[in-house]
Formats: sequence, structure tokens, C-alpha cells
Amino acid sequence: MSRISYVNGQYVRHREAAVHVDDRGYQFADGVYEVIAVSNGRCIDLDPHFDRLDRSLRELQIAAPMPRSALRVVVGETVRRNRVQTGIVYIQVTRGVAKRAHPFPKDTHPAIVVTARHFPPPSEAYINNGVKVITAPDIRWGRCDIKSISLLPNILARQAATVAGVYEAWLIDKAGDVTEGSASNAWIVDAKGKLVTRTLGNELLGGITRAAILDAARQNKLDVVERAFSLDEALHAREAMVTSTTAFVLPVVAIDGKPVGSGVPGPIYQRLRPLYEARVSAELGAFTA
Ligand code: PMP
Repeated sequence: MSRISYVNGQYVRHREAAVHVDDRGYQFADGVYEVIAVSNGRCIDLDPHFDRLDRSLRELQIAAPMPRSALRVVVGETVRRNRVQTGIVYIQVTRGVAKRAHPFPKDTHPAIVVTARHFPPPSEAYINNGVKVITAPDIRWGRCDIKSISLLPNILARQAATVAGVYEAWLIDKAGDVTEGSASNAWIVDAKGKLVTRTLGNELLGGITRAAILDAARQNKLDVVERAFSLDEALHAREAMVTSTTAFVLPVVAIDGKPVGSGVPGPIYQRLRPLYEARVSAELGAFTA
């Protein structure tokens, strides 16, 4: 089956899908994106992703390319036309096409691309045995709360992780605290048994999965706190985890080659994973009703 992508108002064959060389996303990384998980052909947490997209656009003063109701149709149609059951939807919006010059162009429409493809859920090995991370200095800009397509520092950190043969790189700020992963949020279970993830701020992305896990943990009366934690604290934590749209929640069993806790997935992770899965089933179930 040939894949279909949505590009600026048209569904086109993916191999022919193209944007203009003067697209400001291509020229300046002047754009934002979202990645949404698809399960049973349905999007997980679609509205929170749309909310975050709206926020990213607003922060960069890029106009919404279409109303949310229309975008919902385009996303659903792109999933359907690609027959994605388990996978991801990618949405990218840029400031549009204009002669290359730094200031915002006048009278330019935002450009939008939506793609959808099969993407396997995390492997059983990751779910049951955990993943390893390395650390890298956080060399990103001051607005990491915006889901910008400008991802060079994230790419460099993830490449270092790949070369090291591990799943993710945790980014460490100048104070020695963990900001987040290159493409995931970072969590620990501290010495008191509290589930900890960094408070939201300009220095990290408000993960949709982070919010879902916080919500599930609180509803189930787990002891949760949002605060910064240092790499040193993480190295001595009882447990560590990552969350993201593609990972859901995965246990981190080693940081920079040193085992976390006893070096195997811990009890808080074992509680959270089914809670997250139940939440998704409830949402998708409610969707079909
Ligand atoms: N932080 C960064 C830098 C990311 O790229 C991602 C993945 N989008 C996340 C956190 C996790 O966010 P989400 O749970 O919305 O996928």
C-alpha cells in the first residue's frame, strides 16, 4: 500500500509529498510539531496534543493553519488512509513560505504537513527489563517548553546515546539537575519513595505522557512530587523512568553505566505501567462508545 500524506490542503502520495525550498521550517526551523500515538486506529490524548500545538504556535506567533475541528478531520483521515492501527501521527506547522529573511513575513499562510505510519509499541524487553540512559550536557535554548522543530541539540544527545548502545540521553543543566531526556521526560523514585519529575518551566517540554502519568499516579494515591532532581540524586534513586508518546512509560535500570536501585524495574514502575494502559483503554473505549 502506498502511503498518503497531507500537505497544505491535499492528500498526496508520500513519496511525492514535498514542501517548498523557501518554507521557513526548512530555512530556519521556524515551526512546531506534535507526535501522537495511535492505538487500535485511534489517537491517544488527541486534545491535549492539540492544546500543546496551539500553545506552541501562540508562543511563536504563528497562526493556526486551520480550526481544531478541521485538523481533527485531517488527522483522522490521514490515519485512515494509511490504515494505521498501531503507530504515530506527525503534525508539523511552519510559518510558511517566504523569501528568506529573518523577520516574520507579511501575508504568509502557515504551512502544514500531517503524516501517519505504523510504529511498533515498546518491545517486551524494554517493558520487562528496562532501558539504559547516558547523560549529556543540556546545551539547548531557553524555550524548551515550545515543541519547536529545531532539534539539533536533542539529535546530538540522542546520537550519543545510540552510539553508546542505550535508549536515551538525559540532559543535565548547569546546576547539575536533570532537565529531561532528548525526547522524553525523566522521573525517579527518591530515597523516601516519592515519585519525582521536574516542575514544568521554560527549560523542559510539558510531555503529554508526563501529564497522564502524573494524573494516574495521583488518582491512585501514589506519593508524587514535581521538583528538580540532580544527576547525583538520580544515581542514588530507588527507581528511574522515562515517559513519552512512543515509550509510554519505561523503567530506566542504568544511568551512565551505573545501576539504578537494584538494577531491575522497580515496584512503582510495575504499578504505573498497568495504570497507564488502563487509562488509554478507558479513553479509547470511551471514544468508540
Ligand atoms: N521532552 C522532549 C524534549 C520531547 O521531545 C518529548 C517527546 N515529544 C517529550 C519530552 C515527551 O513528551 P510526550 O509525552 O508529549 O511525547
